[in-house]
Amino acid sequence: MKNFFIAIVTFAFLLSCTSESTKKEALNTKKVNDFAIIIHGGAGTILKKNLSDEKEAAYKAKLEEAITVGHTILKNGGTSQEAVVKTIQVMEESPLFNAGKGAVFTHEETNELDASFMDGKTLNAGAVAGVTNVKSPIELAVKIMTDSDHVMLSGKGASIFAKEKGLEIVDPSYFFTDRRFESLKRIKNKNKTELDHDDKKAAFYDADIKNAKFGTVGCVALDKNGNIAAGTSTGGMTNKRWGRIGDAPIIGSGTYANNLTCGVSSTGWGEYFIRSQVAYDISAQMEYQQKSLKEATSNVIQDKLTKLGGTGGVVALDKNGNMSFEFNTAGMYRASMDEKGNLVVKIYKE
Ligand code: ASP
Repeated sequence: MKNFFIAIVTFAFLLSCTSESTKKEALNTKKVNDFAIIIHGGAGTILKKNLSDEKEAAYKAKLEEAITVGHTILKNGGTSQEAVVKTIQVMEESPLFNAGKGAVFTHEETNELDASFMDGKTLNAGAVAGVTNVKSPIELAVKIMTDSDHVMLSGKGASIFAKEKGLEIVDPSYFFTDRRFESLKRIKNKNKTELDHDDKKAAFYDADIKNAKFGTVGCVALDKNGNIAAGTSTGGMTNKRWGRIGDAPIIGSGTYANNLTCGVSSTGWGEYFIRSQVAYDISAQMEYQQKSLKEATSNVIQDKLTKLGGTGGVVALDKNGNMSFEFNTAGMYRASMDEKGNLVVKIYKE
């Protein structure tokens, strides 16, 4: 009886070792890039017929400029954290995107900015919601991670913290752009609330205005030390009110990074991304189900999110430097660059 018991225990132990090693095996697929970087500038009903050649060229040029900044940092041995922050800052400073300068307007005609950052090595994270006068919300998210005991700060308190830490404070008018203000006026005139991306099923969907405002920005990078970092920055959705916060500053929804699996940055209809825990779900599927990055991003966006009625997409990168763009909208401003400097810049579905 005793021998039988020992045999059972030994068998169970060997079984657990095998499944453990299979798991490690799955997560230890071949390295394809020593370092790599992937970005998005928002997803939505981005159709060629609605974008002039000049606009298209301007978006592509800005995406290339941003990703090149991050890639250069990584190539020179810099950290994924630095690459993500500097890359996102290029897009925050561009009025083309709905982040930093060029952010969409709230119902009260202000710009309230959200951002988050996660470090895949330590699983540390920082996030900010609803700030109105900090020039670089992504920088503030990182500062909250490194210099406070908290993960998330919001509104006035976040601004005070930013000031105390010496971050650049700007007059709220810095974020103003005619284009976004016009969008708000159009939407208000129609007495609608509009999401900053496509959703044909949305109660507030409006064909006239749907193409006006895309552009949350995000970045995921893998550095030469195998560290993954991810960040996201946004103005949220046009005509938002009551202090509405989307997924972008929610760790696990808008942003997630874990060196064992992957890094993810999301863009889309935030409420659905929060409910679906999009970014963490992708990592969890890789960790617990040994799915590849492609399988996990496709399952979460094309299957789970879509079934729920959510729209948008993600950029993601795994620990071996595999990269994935996944979205269920007509387009997503996006770019990637591998260790050799091969650049992909795309807007529409292809
Ligand atoms: N996810 C953002 C939000 O809901 C908006 C977007 O990515 O377009 O605030």
